Amino acid sequence: MKFLRRDLEAPGPRALPEMLLETLDLLDGDSMILAPGEIPLFITAGVETLGILKDGRIQSSELLATVRVVRRTHSQQVGTIEIPRGPIGEGKHELTVKVLPLTRDDLVLVLISDESEAQRVHDVRRDFVANISHELKTPIGALSLLSEAVLGSKDDPASVVKFATRMQSEAKRLTDLVQEIINLSRVQDSDPLQLAQGVSIAYVIREAIDQCQISAESRNITVSYLEKSDAVVLGDRDQLIMALHNLIENAINYSPENTKVSVTTASESGIIDISVTDQGIGISESEQDRIFERFYRVDPARSRQTGGTGLGLSIVKHVAAKHGGEVKVWSVENVGSTFSIRLPIYESPMESVQ
Ligand code: ADP
Repeated sequence: MKFLRRDLEAPGPRALPEMLLETLDLLDGDSMILAPGEIPLFITAGVETLGILKDGRIQSSELLATVRVVRRTHSQQVGTIEIPRGPIGEGKHELTVKVLPLTRDDLVLVLISDESEAQRVHDVRRDFVANISHELKTPIGALSLLSEAVLGSKDDPASVVKFATRMQSEAKRLTDLVQEIINLSRVQDSDPLQLAQGVSIAYVIREAIDQCQISAESRNITVSYLEKSDAVVLGDRDQLIMALHNLIENAINYSPENTKVSVTTASESGIIDISVTDQGIGISESEQDRIFERFYRVDPARSRQTGGTGLGLSIVKHVAAKHGGEVKVWSVENVGSTFSIRLPIYESPMESVQ
C-alpha cells in the first residue's frame, strides 16, 4: 500500500476507519488527515516527497491558513499552494488543495492534486510544438532540396557524392533534434522526486565524462575530474547523467582544440555544486540569461556546425529544477565558462544508492 499511517497515539482521536484510509489510498492524488494542532494522523506517501510535510510539520503557511479557515467555518475550502522543490532554485510544486472538515474529533481531511502543474505542462507543450515545427522545417527543407539536387546530377558521380554526404549530415541533425525533443519532453513530464532513489554524484560524473570521450578526443581536449565526491542526491540517475553530459559536451564544442575541461565538486550547507569549467569562447553577459531558453543559440552557425540543437541547456535547467536545484553560469568572452548544477544533498543510508 502506498500510504504511511502515522501513529494514532495523538490525544483525542480514536483509530481511523480502515475503509476510509483504503479509499484515500485508491484516489489519484495525495491526502492527509489532521488532528487538532495540525498533527498528521494519516498521510499518503506523496505528502512527504512533495515536501508538504517535514518532520511531522506542515511546511506551507498557505495550507495552514486554509486549514484554520476550515476549522473556524466548518465548511470546505479549495485553494492552490506552491511548495519549493528544494532549498534552492526556482522549481516549485504547484498544487490544488481541497480541505474538508470531518464530523469526528475535529479532524480535517486535505486532498491534494497536481492540476495546476498539469495546466502548466499543457501551456509549455503548446509553445514548444510551435517552436519545434519551425526547427524541423530547416533540415526537412534541406533534405528535400538535396534530394532534388541528387536527381538533377545523376550523370555526375562527384556531385551525387557531395549532395548525398550533405543529406547524411542533415539526416543526422534531424535524428539528434528529434532525440533531444524526446529527452526534453520526458524531463518536463516526469517527476524525479517521486519514486526517487539515492544517486551517487561521483558515478554520475564518471558516466557523463565517459559519454563525452569520443568528442573530446576528436578535438584533443582533456576532460578531468580529480576529486571523488561521496555526495548522494535524491532523483533520477539517467536524467542527472544527461544534464551533466550536456554541459561537458558544450564545454568541448565551444572551446578551441587542445584545451582543458575540468569537472569539480564542492559541498556546502547541504548543497552539492558540480561545476564544468572550460577555456572556450565564453558568453557575453547579455546572452547569459537567454542561453537557457529552448532553441536559443548565441551563434546559430557555430551551433549548427557542432551539431547543436539549441535544447541542451534547457534540458539541464529542467533537470536541475525538477531535482530541487538550479543551474548557474559564470563566463567571460574569450576566457571561458563555468556552468554549475547545484543540488540538495540527500543524507541517508547508503544502501539505496544506485
Ligand atoms: P546547442 O545545442 O546550440 O549547444 P545549448 O542549449 O546546449 O544548445 O546551448 C545554447 C547556446 O549557449 C549555444 O548555442 C552556445 O551559443 C551557448 N553555450 C552553451 N554552452 C557554452 C559554453 N560552454 N561556452 C560558450 N557558449 C556556450
